[in-house]
Amino acid sequence: MKEILLLKDGEIVLKGLNRRQFEDALKRNIKHSLSDLGRFDISSAQSTIYLRPLSDDIDLDEACDRVSRIFGIVSFSRAAVCPEKTLESVLETAPVYLEKILGSAKTFKVEAKRSDKKFPFKSPEICRETGGLLLSKFPHLSVDVHNPDVTVYVEIRDFGAYIHADPIRGAGGIPVGTGGRAAILISGGIDSPVAAYMMAKRGIKLTAIHFASPPYTSARAEEKVVKLLQKVSRYAGPMRMYTVPFTKLQEKLRDDCPEELFTIIMRRLMMQISERIAKQRDCAALITGESLGQVASQTIGALGCTDEATDMVVFRPLIGMDKQEIINISYKIDTYETSIEPYEDCCTVFTPRHPRTKPILKFVKAAQEQANFEPLIEEALNNLKITYIE
Ligand code: ATP
Ligand code: MG
Repeated sequence: MKEILLLKDGEIVLKGLNRRQFEDALKRNIKHSLSDLGRFDISSAQSTIYLRPLSDDIDLDEACDRVSRIFGIVSFSRAAVCPEKTLESVLETAPVYLEKILGSAKTFKVEAKRSDKKFPFKSPEICRETGGLLLSKFPHLSVDVHNPDVTVYVEIRDFGAYIHADPIRGAGGIPVGTGGRAAILISGGIDSPVAAYMMAKRGIKLTAIHFASPPYTSARAEEKVVKLLQKVSRYAGPMRMYTVPFTKLQEKLRDDCPEELFTIIMRRLMMQISERIAKQRDCAALITGESLGQVASQTIGALGCTDEATDMVVFRPLIGMDKQEIINISYKIDTYETSIEPYEDCCTVFTPRHPRTKPILKFVKAAQEQANFEPLIEEALNNLKITYIE
């Protein structure tokens, strides 16, 4: 039996005149995500995208799995294509295609959508006929129009007649690439991969920046970050990761700055270096995984000092979230298990015993200026490593 995927646009519907642009981006993202599975025909009408496999050997389970992670789709259904666009064909196809799902249900209802107004039967007639036939084929079933176990949909569209049951929830959000580009500061922790996912969900195309301090941080720690980004890219699409060699800057920090200001100055250096990479890569904003009050460098005062280091917009999508809420998302996007692998991060190298929770900007800036990091920043920027994440 031939099958098709019917995808429902989400917020794109609200975009008015830009709608076309959003839909084109969504189609491009779908095409890219499925490109290695085989050829599909992609078309759209009436806020539905039709994804028609062009050969019989395409793995539709895998296609559904990938579609479930594409932002811009609220829900989707895997549907049978009736051999003909007639009521007879609908009645022949429905019991065969739905045998499994109806076999294990107790109640059902039928909903018909007839967008092809030339079809000779109206929606209530299609429902009545299909419902009656299913009741006779599956005598254990009864109809429940309010709270059925299964809703059967019959759709008579311009291109054909389709049958499907309960739709699958999509990833929501808006298509990646329609919200511009931003740089995610990514560590190996739990928070920043979640922050990356959340901004990709709002249409942001990501570039990743990671600070590494070998030999204080190991190659394994960096591999862990790559692994996390691979998981994120299942939602966010391919991206580049820039690894910044941070060792000399951190050693200078240790040697030339007051200990209680290590963390805050390090955060500022990260912002300043990231800003320079971001601007070169046409990124309009920075993203971090900071959450208010989680650690000493994430108090209002510390965040104010960090922000002052850059004039770029900084997105902190986790700012008002509890750790458990963040962890729940990391489970959902399958980054949690990797995040908790015990490798060091440069943030935990030379941590001060008593970091300032209320740093005073004037003193922070004075200490940073006196140490003069600029030559080492230049050197780090000249020695970036690029990794391509697919
Ligand atoms: P995470 O779980 O993301 O590591 P965290 O709660 O451990 O966050 P910090 O270690 O203080 O908090 O880091 C705050 C934010 O700074 C991170 O969410 C991330 O955006 C950025 N960051 C931290 N370490 C690095 C790093 N090595 N490279 C790039 N960005 C980093
Ligand atoms: Mg961390």
